[in-house]
Amino acid sequence: MIDQKGILFILSGPSGVGKGTVRKALFDQSTDLRYSISMTTREPREGEVDGIDYFFKSRDEFEKLISEGQLIEHAEYVGNYYGTPRQYVEQTLNEGKDVFLEIEVQGALKVRENFPEGVFVFLIPPSLEELKDRIVNRGTETEEKVKNRLKAAKEEIDMMDAYDYVVVNDQIDNAVTKVKSIVASEHCKRERV
Ligand code: 5GP
Repeated sequence: MIDQKGILFILSGPSGVGKGTVRKALFDQSTDLRYSISMTTREPREGEVDGIDYFFKSRDEFEKLISEGQLIEHAEYVGNYYGTPRQYVEQTLNEGKDVFLEIEVQGALKVRENFPEGVFVFLIPPSLEELKDRIVNRGTETEEKVKNRLKAAKEEIDMMDAYDYVVVNDQIDNAVTKVKSIVASEHCKRERV
């Protein structure tokens, strides 16, 4: 095989869909992917370890990282900063190893701008797919609440179009199997002798 850079995989999706659970289950199984540990200003939760779950930073430290260009993306989510370290991602890709990011939607869209060759996977709950069907098939709903929900769903569906793959998180095992298939097929796409 010709020497080449690793592949950047990005798992994202609406909040609460279970990105972290899918990511942890994927990494509990053997995988050649390298997980990029994010920086955050949020407080560690019980059991979380600095340098394993996140690199925990103060707001000042985080803002310095931003101004120094040390993050490939960052986003503010529920009052805290989250960001992806540039050096780890670029160095690991250059060593020919795949890197896996698990980040929220705004951050993923920024990564898309800077790493268009990345592989973007959108995780959705099964109910969102049902909602999508409803929008497509019965676009005449008028009730205020339904409208708002459809509007929110529409925004998510619009974002879905910016992704290469959509995985329905019906069961963790199924979602992990699909993500692993995506990784395998992206390698087959690039396989050259
Ligand atoms: P939590 O506080 O529950 O660990 O994470 C909150 C959200 O931040 C999750 O949706 C998670 O995917 C996202 N997140 C974790 N790391 C990053 C990152 O480096 N950048 C961005 N944009 N989002 C992240």
